[in-house]
Amino acid sequence: QCTLVCPTGALGEKDQCDTAIDWFDDPDIKTIVAFAPSARVTIGDEFGLEPGKNTEGQLITAIKMLGADFVCDVNWGADVTIMEEGNEFLSRLRTGGTLPMMTSCCPGWVTYVEKHHPEMMGNLSTTRSPQGIFGALAKTWFAKTHNIDPKKLRFISIMPCTAKKEEAARPQLARNGMPDTDLVITIREFARILRRYGISLPTLEPSKYDSPFMAENTGAGMIFGVTGGVMEAALRTVHHVVTGKNLDGIEYLPVRGMEGIKEATVDLGPGGSVKIAVANGLRNAEELIQRVKSGKADYQFIEVMACPGGCIDGGGTARIKNSYLSHAAARAKTVYQIDRARVYRQSHANPDVIRLYDEFLGKPNSELAHHLLHTYFTDRAKAPDPETISQIWKLVKLG
Ligand code: SF4
Repeated sequence: QCTLVCPTGALGEKDQCDTAIDWFDDPDIKTIVAFAPSARVTIGDEFGLEPGKNTEGQLITAIKMLGADFVCDVNWGADVTIMEEGNEFLSRLRTGGTLPMMTSCCPGWVTYVEKHHPEMMGNLSTTRSPQGIFGALAKTWFAKTHNIDPKKLRFISIMPCTAKKEEAARPQLARNGMPDTDLVITIREFARILRRYGISLPTLEPSKYDSPFMAENTGAGMIFGVTGGVMEAALRTVHHVVTGKNLDGIEYLPVRGMEGIKEATVDLGPGGSVKIAVANGLRNAEELIQRVKSGKADYQFIEVMACPGGCIDGGGTARIKNSYLSHAAARAKTVYQIDRARVYRQSHANPDVIRLYDEFLGKPNSELAHHLLHTYFTDRAKAPDPETISQIWKLVKLG
């Protein structure tokens, strides 16, 4: 038991790993656990596996051993993010909406904009991150189709990211007073739980996901884990929506690689062309913002990931001393191998995503999709108002 207690007695913070175990053990609670694209290629480092080793099947087995009721994949949420964000981008292009549209699935980047460039919050895509989308659909569509009371369902997300904890606690990502994402556990924390229970990840037999509803995922969802991946995944779908044809060869190489800033012009056939940019690391993101503000660049679509390289080297993953570059490169290589091996490589081709829209949401950016899968941002350059502080405290206590 690892409990942190404030010496003044004003605050008590229970280790969140214990909260997860409590829920797994509670017969009145159903748990749904899903992990991020990069989780499967980063957790192996914690167990001495070769850098970038894909442990997807073993990770599923380990989560089941701990007692989760359902094991799914945040990659599925990433596919839904692309459906919403890609269509949001096209709508902004066609209706003269705010451009450049900037991705918003990285909470480190979103917080940076809210704190340092709140005048650009209108540029951020309103589409929720894959985690935010997964949580909303777990508590609605999944709960309904599985006949579970959403009040008794807990969504636990395993992430490479410490900032995702803050994202999950945002009042705008809650429903009826309960957060859509109940708990975020980092890769390091999850490895700690496994060690505590004597579970050796490398020795486990691989398993398959439980739910056919929120697990089938594509190569497009998988590449969210690496810088340029969200942009490439969006282009695969945007190109198909505009031209009716797949992007040549599916892959879009100009946005790949570890350079701090990448730029390209993408031909959308009769839809014209769009200028895009991709940045990883906040120093490079700031450079892009200055280019846009000064009028030196006229991008229409920008992807930013706050961590150098993207989530494959997120702040919640194993810290590898003096070998960051080789580990990040190995993890990125596996991410692209998994993409190539997937049956479906474009989000709009995912049968479970098609089913979601057919049975529940209607179409991308529908009224219901907007209600459940989009969000808003807050100017944090100003001090938060007392109402926001009180809502955050309520959620912290519930968590
Ligand atoms: Fe989190 Fe870093 Fe990934 Fe952003 S890039 S979502 S901060 S791990």
